[in-house]
Amino acid sequence: MDRAEECDSLRANANRGGRLIEQPVIDRDDELICLGHGEDVAAQGGALAPPIVQTSLFGHQSLAELMAGLAHEDSQSVYSRGTNPTVRAVEEKIARLERGEACRCLASGMAAVSAVMMSELKSGDHLLFVNQTYGPTLQLARRLERFGVSHDLLLAIDRRSIEEGLRPETRLIWLESPGTMLCRTLELAPIVELARARGITTAFDNSWASPLFQKPLTHGVDLVVHSATKYIGGHSDVIAGAVIGSSERMRRLFYDALLLNGGVMAPHDAWLLNRGLRTLPVRMRKHHRDGLAVARYLADHPRVRQVFHPAWAESEPSGQLSGYSGLFAFELDSDSFTDIARVVDALEYFRIGVSWGGVESIVISPNRGDNVESLAAQGMPAGLIRLSVGLEGADVLIEDLARALERR
Ligand SMILES: *Cc1c(COP(=O)(O)O)cnc(C)c1O
Repeated sequence: MDRAEECDSLRANANRGGRLIEQPVIDRDDELICLGHGEDVAAQGGALAPPIVQTSLFGHQSLAELMAGLAHEDSQSVYSRGTNPTVRAVEEKIARLERGEACRCLASGMAAVSAVMMSELKSGDHLLFVNQTYGPTLQLARRLERFGVSHDLLLAIDRRSIEEGLRPETRLIWLESPGTMLCRTLELAPIVELARARGITTAFDNSWASPLFQKPLTHGVDLVVHSATKYIGGHSDVIAGAVIGSSERMRRLFYDALLLNGGVMAPHDAWLLNRGLRTLPVRMRKHHRDGLAVARYLADHPRVRQVFHPAWAESEPSGQLSGYSGLFAFELDSDSFTDIARVVDALEYFRIGVSWGGVESIVISPNRGDNVESLAAQGMPAGLIRLSVGLEGADVLIEDLARALERR
């Protein structure tokens, strides 16, 4: 795209009413936290990379000291199913990035999701999902029906619909923004207001934006969840999750869920996350820029019906996002699985696979050929193709897409 075309595209976008973020904004403190400033290097024997404390248990000077440790397992290193220094170091960093009091890292994003549900819900409670939601999170809610927890998925995301979706027994509102596949953004202020007035907990899956581009806790949300497998890890080499919130809620989550279901993060995985964090700002800036460039190219392509990227949103609530990640979707001009597969299979630089947020570009379609109705139930068009724009360079990826979209 040359400069004039870029301006046209920008204007067209502005006309859609969206608040386009041309340059991503990353807080200076966040940049320094990611780079490791503030780490207690002396306590690590001078090591600039935090050591991996690969131990299951910790020895004590006396039985009394052990007992004192056991009384505070959420902060003392007694047993690595509770607290481990390598995991602790990355938890403290993620808590600071999200502006939360406390963070716990877990073995996966789903372990984080499960821990929140286990610590916040009981039999008789109702859980409300607002916006398109990660599939396994919804599947978990279906399992929870066995334990007397009911749920609804709400795709109408205006204030009135959300208010009508609440029940007297609603205890948790689950938010994902930008939401799965269609990247629709939620306006947090009215949702938080509704929840607070009724004493309902709000949990927010912030995996899409990473802690650098969105801080839901600063908008009044109670708990933030991450699949750290995605951008925080960032190299497609670790499965990890995190939950961030107030000290009180996180203490409850530790004792009610994490310590007992045992889905803890391994020290080596914590080390990998810490390494991922080092380059998070530089990666996110490139995901923003290249994702937007690829999305713009597709928006003008004759074979593309629609692009689902927050920059193309009808009305992106200003002030929540400070940048875009590289994950978005587009609708092909055909609903047939064969046509979708022809485009996907023709791509050279986009690897075909699940997941996203790593250095390599990834492509997938939710269309399996036999599930058009269930896609429609989540408001998703059959011709959907999702891209995770990696770090190869926008020009390379645009050429790749141009070639693949020529195939008929
Ligand atoms: C991947 C993902 C999860 C689950 O994370 P895992 O690390 O795979 O367990 C949760 N939420 C969203 C939005 C995800 O993309």
